[in-house]
Amino acid sequence: MALTAEKEVVKEQTVCGMMDNVMQQFNKAAEQIDLNPNIKKILSITNNEIVVNFPVKMDNGEVEVFRGYRVQHNNALGPYKGGLRYHPTVDIDAARALAMWMTWKTSLAGLPYGGGKGGIQLDPIKYSKAELERITRRFTFALADNIGPEHDIPAPDVNTNSQTMAWIADTYMSTRPPAERSANQHVVTGKPSGSGGLQGRDRATGYGVYLTIKFWTEKKNTSLSGKKFVLQGFGNVGYWAAHFLENDGAILVAVQDAYGSIENQNGIAVESLFNYTHANKGSIVGFPDAKAMQDKAFFATDCDICIPAALGNQITKDNASQIKASVIAEGANGPTNAEGEKVLLDKGIAIIPDILCNSGGVIGSYYEWLQNRNGELWQLDEVMAKLDKKLKESFNKVYEYSERHALDMRTAAYCIAIARIEKAYTERGIFP
Ligand code: GLU
Repeated sequence: MALTAEKEVVKEQTVCGMMDNVMQQFNKAAEQIDLNPNIKKILSITNNEIVVNFPVKMDNGEVEVFRGYRVQHNNALGPYKGGLRYHPTVDIDAARALAMWMTWKTSLAGLPYGGGKGGIQLDPIKYSKAELERITRRFTFALADNIGPEHDIPAPDVNTNSQTMAWIADTYMSTRPPAERSANQHVVTGKPSGSGGLQGRDRATGYGVYLTIKFWTEKKNTSLSGKKFVLQGFGNVGYWAAHFLENDGAILVAVQDAYGSIENQNGIAVESLFNYTHANKGSIVGFPDAKAMQDKAFFATDCDICIPAALGNQITKDNASQIKASVIAEGANGPTNAEGEKVLLDKGIAIIPDILCNSGGVIGSYYEWLQNRNGELWQLDEVMAKLDKKLKESFNKVYEYSERHALDMRTAAYCIAIARIEKAYTERGIFP
């Protein structure tokens, strides 16, 4: 009985899942650029799907079996690249969709990478640090040669961080033949700075979110000064985006995390909230300089800029009509579903799409990978300047394409990304 019920839940998630969202976005752009039907077939499906079940000894001596995923969508432009997520919503549908988004993201950014994504279906809150280390190491061992510095390069994502990457790098390197061990640290990016990590990789995604909003306001002949923004998710991406926005004069007026929502129209001080969450098990709830608000009311908050920086499928037909912002900056992957998007576009609300808005992270990863491969150590100011330049180029490309073809920015971004992959296939042909 229990098994049947569980299967039904999984099925239901798949039917209205993230794949539907990414496929609708892809099909719209494919039609727009008249994508070659053979290449459309290739890009509509993932290349490889690795599912591993692996046992881990818990602190109490019992053994738990975990299920981990790595989906490799496409590698026409280079090695598979993308994060590993630890969250109860991780399943094959989510991993496929997130892998596809990585393919478009790396292509749009002009990086020599394809797209992959994976993770483990678990709630990290339930495990000790020692358990998470053993889970991560055993997952890495189970993935074995399905990852590699020139083949598939994981990175942090939801609930994983530089510590997770250090464990993966160490496990991967330890299982190589002796002569290869130290030359493999770029099997993952987003490592701690003492272990081959890049200065600034921690803030790269949030910085990119901030920059794309700044570029957008500049196109609208205005500035960030005095603009109110709301933020869903106060993790690494949300915090750094808020940090840079506040530095530039914007005002954080509402925040939502997994535990609750808070509002203060006079402004929530970003660093105070950050310090508060650290002393409060990571949660924003109870922050003294804001009032608690109903979760349902969050997207209806008065503001100019709305930043979903948590999970997918958050802006839907149920809340999109309440949004007051004039621009949505997608720090998360897939936060707006197709129906929600239609409502927003009909209302004239602009969307800076995820594959552009949060691409600072994977661009930072590329710099880390280059740094490791070339045996270099880059300085923070160099990294930030390079990110700035690259994101400006990407933003301008998307913005100009959208203006020229009278398209929303997401479709414009997809058209550019897909056309680059189509070119690679057209030049190379299909083996044999
Ligand atoms: N997880 C991040 C993303 O979704 C970063 C991926 C990477 O750096 O490979 O873009």
